[in-house]
Amino acid sequence: MSDANIPQTLSHTCRNGETFAIAVRVSSRLRAPQIKLDKGQFIFVVPAWLRRSDLERTLPQIRLFVENNADKAKAQLVRLAKEKSSHAQEQTFPSSYTYTTHSGIVCMVAIRRSTRARKVTITLKNGRFELVVPTWASRETFSSLLPLTHNFLEKWAAKPTNLLPREQRKPEGEIPNSLTYTCKDGRQITVGVQISARARYVRIKLISGRFIIVVPKGIRKKVLDEALPNLYSWLERELPTAEQPQKHESLPPEIAIPLLHKNLPIKVDNTYLNATQRLSELTPSSLCITMKMNTESICAILHNDVLEIYGGGQDLFFQVMALQYWCQRAAEHYLPPILREVLQQNSLPDVVISIRDQSTRWGSCRKKAGVMPSISLNWRAILLPEKLIRHLCVHESGHLLHMNHSPAFKQAMQKMEAEARELEKELDKAWQKLPWWAVHKRYLKNTV
Ligand SMILES: [Zn+2]
Repeated sequence: MSDANIPQTLSHTCRNGETFAIAVRVSSRLRAPQIKLDKGQFIFVVPAWLRRSDLERTLPQIRLFVENNADKAKAQLVRLAKEKSSHAQEQTFPSSYTYTTHSGIVCMVAIRRSTRARKVTITLKNGRFELVVPTWASRETFSSLLPLTHNFLEKWAAKPTNLLPREQRKPEGEIPNSLTYTCKDGRQITVGVQISARARYVRIKLISGRFIIVVPKGIRKKVLDEALPNLYSWLERELPTAEQPQKHESLPPEIAIPLLHKNLPIKVDNTYLNATQRLSELTPSSLCITMKMNTESICAILHNDVLEIYGGGQDLFFQVMALQYWCQRAAEHYLPPILREVLQQNSLPDVVISIRDQSTRWGSCRKKAGVMPSISLNWRAILLPEKLIRHLCVHESGHLLHMNHSPAFKQAMQKMEAEARELEKELDKAWQKLPWWAVHKRYLKNTV
């Protein structure tokens, strides 16, 4: 009854003369003997309680199974052998090789197999040589091509700094990705540093509770260091704003649309179907948006000076998006006439106007020969006082004359609007004052 009574292998010679080995395994969980074919190998699994005599009795059945599945086993073995040999070929492909230059520098070259590569190519990236070899290339092709890489290696290894990782190659005084500022009360704050091709001077901004220092591309670290004391004193002043609770449990009770000289109370009804009556009364000038996300729908309608939001289940951020899109709809309604008026007053040509969801700016202007110029305004401008909306329109209209922020541009703005300079500063600051829901990132881009 012990395992010793059960042989570890059996064999069976088929009628065609071929002999197959049958591995015998003992299983304590199995109730009855079992024969199977796995990867070209016959395996006979027997319960632990099985006695030799019981085994003998099952043998005819086993032999029959082997006889019937002999061809299948052979096919499996052939396929396995093939796979193994291709795998072996893969194995003979090294993952790297070294080359010693004439001047004695040892270059380590990583080898990467690529299904997309058309030819063998060598690159030097971030101090690391890499040889890309198409998967179809055989070991022989690869070996014959290797000498071709030597010129490349000689050339690039000649300058030792090339072989250092980029971080180490940078001269000291490079602009860091972030800075740590220790507040007056001892806490440490990580301040992001953003390099911008558009920025003209070093400044600091606060976006969604995070401080970010924007530096013009290509400036020296010294310039940033010199600006830091000023930036940090601004940070210290704005700290309370940054620390306003980031968690919001509900929509605001009302939103201010200064342009309409009133605050619109917000009424939320989680059931979309309750909007049916309102939706049936819509007219083309109704300020209404409807959105759909998976199975949930939501709509926002201005009705008797109350902004009614229906649906969205309990999902606050779905409701936030509805509020944002409603504001965008209101912006599309109210902002273009103001921009057109500014253009007319200043005898400027007509433009294509769009209201967009820019995440960092109030507006933009595009001009191209032969195409009607276009001006995009950020929908969030609908939340600004009228004088700032007008100023934004003046700013973007000014770009029709000057596509930059040069003194000539500022002069043109001044001509259109006497207090342009003060308003410009106020507009810059207004972004920080936007309510949390207006700067919350959208995760759904299409409305229905
Ligand atoms: Zn501008």
